[in-house]
Amino acid sequence: MLGAGIAGLSCARRLSERGHRVTLFDKSRGPSGRAATRREDGWSCDHGAQYFTARTPEFAQAVAQWCAAGVCQPWFPSLRVFGPAPRGPRPAPAPQRYVGMPHMSALGRWLAQGLDLRLWHTVTELRRGEGGWALRSGEHGWHGESFDSVLLALPPAQARALIQPIDPELAGGTEPDPMEPCWCAMAVYDADPLPEVEGAFVNQGPLSWVCADHRKPGRQGPCCWVLHAGPDWSRAHIDASPAEVGAWMLEAFADLGARGTPRQVTVHRWLYARGAREPAPGMIWQAQAGLGLAGDWLAGGRIEGAWRSGRALADALG
Ligand SMILES: Cc1cc2nc3c(=O)[nH]c(=O)nc-3n(C[C@H](O)[C@H](O)[C@H](O)COP(=O)(O)OP(=O)(O)OC[C@H]3O[C@@H](n4cnc5c(N)ncnc54)[C@H](O)[C@@H]3O)c2cc1C
Repeated sequence: MLGAGIAGLSCARRLSERGHRVTLFDKSRGPSGRAATRREDGWSCDHGAQYFTARTPEFAQAVAQWCAAGVCQPWFPSLRVFGPAPRGPRPAPAPQRYVGMPHMSALGRWLAQGLDLRLWHTVTELRRGEGGWALRSGEHGWHGESFDSVLLALPPAQARALIQPIDPELAGGTEPDPMEPCWCAMAVYDADPLPEVEGAFVNQGPLSWVCADHRKPGRQGPCCWVLHAGPDWSRAHIDASPAEVGAWMLEAFADLGARGTPRQVTVHRWLYARGAREPAPGMIWQAQAGLGLAGDWLAGGRIEGAWRSGRALADALG
């Protein structure tokens, strides 16, 4: 299994529960993928997924179990909207929001418990031979074991790069690629620059979302605001320098009323932040080849989609 985000983890857990032997490879230093938490000296904050919702009974059941285990908690923020509401029908009221406890990455750490997880393995090549699937990582070369099946729980561009040389038709099936980029700025302050706001959707200028991360439940540490830029602005400035992007995003934050100067600003570029195929097939499984794909982009997006896609792929394997 490649990718220890929520999709890969939910797939690996379900397969393990059913008696399959699963080895999970991820290029990062920890599990959880885009349900991510940035840790720096003296502060940390959720810089990927900000919260999650449960719109289907099966995911609501899993979330109830996670809450009972203390891995997440309902979140009742008072959210503002800046700028004109987008045209079209009013969106339905959002379902209950949840946040990972004490950070979003707690979800991935919880799901990874007991799994054979190999971190720092950036898989760069897959090969199918007589003994099964072999894989090579940039850090460790060819892996000693071979596998009956290879399952890729990756954003489509990253999956495509690996399957193009072995199955160009399947690689072509990952197009059109729905993923949108997102520039994220994390700003640490000595005094809260916008104490009257907890979080907000922003429909003006570069920003799309701002949130006082330190005021989410269970967070400790200094005042840290997370700013997300919208997909169009992020795409238009995709090659700008992080320093420039950070400055522009802070200017836009000041336009919302934020006061003062942060003592530290860290900028992260998500190349593949969000997006989902329509109609959503849920997952892709080629039984004869032993090759499968999962991920949020195949199941409606969001953390819920990732979790459901991983489960669907595991169920297809039986
Ligand atoms: C800025 C931002 C805001 C978001 N906000 C929300 C939100 O508020 N609510 C919500 O529900 N969702 C939100 N999302 C989306 C949510 O984070 C995703 O839908 C979900 O986490 C995707 O999970 P996944 O397992 O499909 O993919 P990922 O989490 O991307 O997992 C893929 C994994 O594969 C690994 N990987 C990639 N290439 C390789 C390779 N070659 N070899 C080995 N490993 C590899 C990566 O390190 C990663 O861990 C947001 C995402 C972003 C980025």
